[in-house]
Amino acid sequence: MTQKLFTLKDLLPVAQKNHFAIGAFSARFTGMIEPIIRAALELQSPVIVQISKVEFSWYQISLPYYVRKFHEIYSKVSPNVPVCLHLDHTNTLEFVQEAVSGGFSSVMIDASSRPLEENIAYTRQVVELARKRGVSVEAELGRILSSDKFETTSEEEIFTDPLEAERFARETGVDALAISIGTVHGVYFTKQPKIDFDRLEAIRKHVQIPLVLHGGSGIPVEQIRRAIQMDSGGVSKINIATELEMTLYESLGILERLPDVEFWKLPSQQIARAQDAVRELTKKKIKDYLLSDQKAYLYD
Ligand SMILES: [Zn+2]
Repeated sequence: MTQKLFTLKDLLPVAQKNHFAIGAFSARFTGMIEPIIRAALELQSPVIVQISKVEFSWYQISLPYYVRKFHEIYSKVSPNVPVCLHLDHTNTLEFVQEAVSGGFSSVMIDASSRPLEENIAYTRQVVELARKRGVSVEAELGRILSSDKFETTSEEEIFTDPLEAERFARETGVDALAISIGTVHGVYFTKQPKIDFDRLEAIRKHVQIPLVLHGGSGIPVEQIRRAIQMDSGGVSKINIATELEMTLYESLGILERLPDVEFWKLPSQQIARAQDAVRELTKKKIKDYLLSDQKAYLYD
């Protein structure tokens, strides 16, 4: 029997207090789960493994299959570091329900395309549903641009308003809040990443719960560290998706996206090479970016 999975509620307040962030690594292939967990284990870092609703369909993976795969690996590796299985961007209560009863320890509801009142009401329903099962909830306020269409299809950027964030956190009871402060999902083609630190400071003044930064691929390290290490607590969860997948493709020398089942049909040396590349990048992010290496002991 392996230990219980962690929630964002277990993980993030400790990170916030101790000025580091926890990486939420998107394992878009089930083959990425093991190298991500092994990287965290090697560096004694807490870690979040995540996948979004859209990714399930892009990579043709069913939720029960994903959870089964995850638990197989989790039992095999049996890591003595905190691990959370998080459902990234999801816009329906039904899918959240499936994840909550299916074995995820955390979920994100993204109702950010709705008007504020509706976003609050919908998010609150998710919180009620998840809380019954001891599952944590992340929500989004403002709108984070997408350049890759893997997570959301948002083409509009709306920065998070600090006062709205205060109200949102209070009325929904979410455990973590994703904010829009200049980062973009996917890789940066034309728009260069620039974190709006004044806005981050203002949000932090009004909101006590942990903050989440999406679009962590390709943000310069100085900006990331500044966002994490702010006196008032900074951001505590950073999502890393696109860069991880690009590294995997590069290691295989392929350009086309594969469905999950095709990945497992590759020759075993290729699978091993891809998994090594994912493990190395995860380690690099944990050490240089997130500053979460050797922090697992804080959860004993
Ligand atoms: Zn996101």
